[in-house]
Amino acid sequence: MTSDSTILGRCPDCGAEIEPYQSLIEFEEADGTTGVFAECYSCDEVVRPE
Ligand SMILES: [Zn+2]
Repeated sequence: MTSDSTILGRCPDCGAEIEPYQSLIEFEEADGTTGVFAECYSCDEVVRPE
């Protein structure tokens, strides 16, 4: 582990780290947790970090 605690997650497509400033939309999941969509700069697409 390095500095993973500061990232939102990783792109499900390419595995790139998604930084907090790349987030676009936050939403509430069906189970009450907060989800986020973010822009992956590697894919140039909106992804859901995981
Ligand atoms: Zn990606």
